[in-house]
Amino acid sequence: MAVYVITEPCIGTKDTACVDVCPVDCIHPRKDEPEYESSEMLYIHPDECIDCGACQPACPVEAIFRDEDVPEQWQKYIQINADHFK
Ligand code: SF4
Ligand code: SF4
Repeated sequence: MAVYVITEPCIGTKDTACVDVCPVDCIHPRKDEPEYESSEMLYIHPDECIDCGACQPACPVEAIFRDEDVPEQWQKYIQINADHFK
C-alpha cells in the first residue's frame, strides 16, 4: 500500500489543515502536542496512513504527495517523514 508524505512546502506554513481531515490521526505533531512549537513541519506516520488521500487537497501549499508521486527534488522527505516516528 502506498502512503502519503509531507514535503518541503510545509516548512513555514505548518497550518495543520491536513490534521483536521485525516481520519486516522496519523499526522503529527498536532497543535496540542508538545513538539508542535519546535517542529519545523508536520509528518505522516508511514505505518498508520491508510492511503485515503483526504489530506492532499486540504493542503494550501501542495506539500502532500503519494509516495510514488513525490517530486524528484523532495524524495528525501519520504525518509524524513518515517524518521520522525523512530
Ligand atoms: S492519506 Fe489519509 S490517512 Fe494518510 S495522512 Fe492523508 S488523510 Fe491521513
Ligand atoms: S496542510 Fe500542508 S502546510 Fe498545512 S500542515 Fe499540512 S502539510 Fe503542512
